[in-house]
Amino acid sequence: MADTQVEHKTAEEEKKEILSEYKRLLRMSEAVIKTPEQLELVRKAFKVAVDAHDGTRRKSGEPYILHPIAVAQIVSEEFNLDHTSIACALMHDVVEDSDFTLDQMEKNFNSDVARIIDGLTKIKGVTSNTSMVKAQAENLKKILLTLSDDVRVILIKIADRLHNMRTMKSMPERKQVRISSETLYLYAPLAHRLGLYKIKTELEDLSLKYTNRELYGDIAKKLAATKRDRDKYIKDFINPLKAKLEEGGLKDFKIYGRPKSIHSIWNKMKKKKVEFEEIYDLFAIRIVIDAPENKEKSECWKAYSIITDIYKPQPDRLRDWISNPKSNGYESLHTTVLGPKGRWVEVQIRSKRMDEIAEKGVAAHWRYKGQKGGGNDLLEVWLEQVRDYLQDPAANPLEFLSDFRQNLYESDIYVFTPTGELKNMRGGSTILDFAFSIHTELGAKCIGGKINNKLYPISHKLKNGDQVHVLTSTKQKPNEDWLSFAVTTKARARIKSYLNEAMRLEADNGKMILERKLRQLKAELSKDLTEQLASHFKQGNSLNFLYNISVGKFDLNELKKVTIVNNKIENLVERKARPIEEESYGEEMAQGADLMLFGGLNNVEYSLAKCCNPRQGDKVFGFITINKGIKVHLDNCPNALDMKTKYPYRVVSTIWGRQDKVAFLTGLRITGIDDVGLINRLTNVVSNQMNIDMRSISFDTVDGVFEGLIKVYVANNSELKKLIIAVKAIEGVHDVRRIET
Ligand code: MN
Repeated sequence: MADTQVEHKTAEEEKKEILSEYKRLLRMSEAVIKTPEQLELVRKAFKVAVDAHDGTRRKSGEPYILHPIAVAQIVSEEFNLDHTSIACALMHDVVEDSDFTLDQMEKNFNSDVARIIDGLTKIKGVTSNTSMVKAQAENLKKILLTLSDDVRVILIKIADRLHNMRTMKSMPERKQVRISSETLYLYAPLAHRLGLYKIKTELEDLSLKYTNRELYGDIAKKLAATKRDRDKYIKDFINPLKAKLEEGGLKDFKIYGRPKSIHSIWNKMKKKKVEFEEIYDLFAIRIVIDAPENKEKSECWKAYSIITDIYKPQPDRLRDWISNPKSNGYESLHTTVLGPKGRWVEVQIRSKRMDEIAEKGVAAHWRYKGQKGGGNDLLEVWLEQVRDYLQDPAANPLEFLSDFRQNLYESDIYVFTPTGELKNMRGGSTILDFAFSIHTELGAKCIGGKINNKLYPISHKLKNGDQVHVLTSTKQKPNEDWLSFAVTTKARARIKSYLNEAMRLEADNGKMILERKLRQLKAELSKDLTEQLASHFKQGNSLNFLYNISVGKFDLNELKKVTIVNNKIENLVERKARPIEEESYGEEMAQGADLMLFGGLNNVEYSLAKCCNPRQGDKVFGFITINKGIKVHLDNCPNALDMKTKYPYRVVSTIWGRQDKVAFLTGLRITGIDDVGLINRLTNVVSNQMNIDMRSISFDTVDGVFEGLIKVYVANNSELKKLIIAVKAIEGVHDVRRIET
């Protein structure tokens, strides 16, 4: 490609260009490089960088040093960062590309510089293609570790990425695509979370350009072709408005049309499955008011009332991020109004200060407050959560990545504590998430919550403005199910580490049991042997195996089936999957099998599959055969994957019934006087005192009257009668009625 060639320059000309770019950097940084000492630091950094990259060139053929200078320019111009950041941006590739060490950084500069450069050096691009996601997860974790340490590191890293994306033309296509994907995957969401909307938009557009060149070109062309019409429409929309705003006493304001980014147009086309021509909101109108900080809110609302006087608003499209800023600091008032020719137009109203924060996010905060973390409280809270989570050593990078990425794009909701304190939560958060956000202990003991005086289960999703009172029980403890509805990173991390901890304790016990058993078999407990046994008996990893031993899920008599010689399993033969002919999945009716419950099915004929031979208590599923009823297989049966992928519609969920009796499901409607301890006493009586399995519980309170519905498995009518008597005796319960389910 001809345009990737840089015209030949003499060494002298190159030197001139480097110096002039450096001077441009100093000019744009006048506001932050204030003292001679600060200037000296930047100058020294420049010199170190020039020496380190001497003779190195970029793919485009340019001297390498132009890249760090450009990164420093972005850091200064877009982020308004301080002189230390500018120096670090200049030296961000030095340690990697030269013999210059971090120790020398510390000696020649200061510990701040060394720390930031260290952070920047640790964050590397993803190099492995084979385990892309895993590598990205690790990478993200590293980035966040440094991010939570000093936001400047990540800002410089984003500037680095932005400049690389801007100058990617001469790279091979394969690399362009890889870097673009990584950018879309990681850096754009991060920029979003940090409120760097302008940069985020540019990163997204550039990524789209390199991953889908044709599409990008197509949309860009269509945007250009419709520009004149659009400009005219914007003018027609703005003109009457402008006059009214001035009449209304607003003096210092700007009003203009803002085109949407190509990436966001593309997103809309995908999401709504429409063509470019069908997208009406290719632009938004923005009004930026220059008002002192104590007047800005009222001025914005004033502008809003004037606008909606002229153009009819769509009431449910009002977004007030002025009263409740987004957690990344974004403040603005958005409304959608009916403009000329019956077209809906989005209008964004904000003050000049809000506008700068909206465009530059955390970086603008940095400038306003000039302190670590940017002085943005909500962002601080978020960083606090990140730090918190990263401290959890059990955090699996892959799980972490998926939890975390979801968090990056979620919109926020605002809820209140009982004392009226405002809490910012991720959208989709439940009562349980809320409990964990306040305190880990509160989360672990949470049994439900009261919202505006109504009782709700822990899985209940919170809405904006809810006032949440968490209910706890000392008996409560986290379980697997919680992970199906907890959405915040913090809650999920805490639940997982609790479960791991509980599992480890059981496993410790299992280890002692296994040790005793092995001694009887004249063998000795060792890590190797445990692993061998775990894999031989298809118990997953050794932790799982030891856990299963402790809770009785693994029958130790099984050990007799293997011969242990020299502390090794002799004749290690893998249990082979039987042929995958569907009727052969399990051949015999099991003798005297225990009762099973199939999801939604009653009284069905079933048998235990021979291929995996499930036992009471194992995790199992049912498979509907053509003429032999339902076969019950182990969840980890060698044939399971095959059955589940080939015949998913024939798989039925199955759990073991109670071993000692036939159980049937019945419902009880309970009414009484609302009282925090009631649920607690109720579950206590049913589960602990009566030892009856509870399938579900739901409750509601209207004006202090409690109404609950529990579904239980009881063996027979006499057990049911006993249960009703016991529940009636609970303090606060007025009436108990059986209902048919
Ligand atoms: Mn770089």
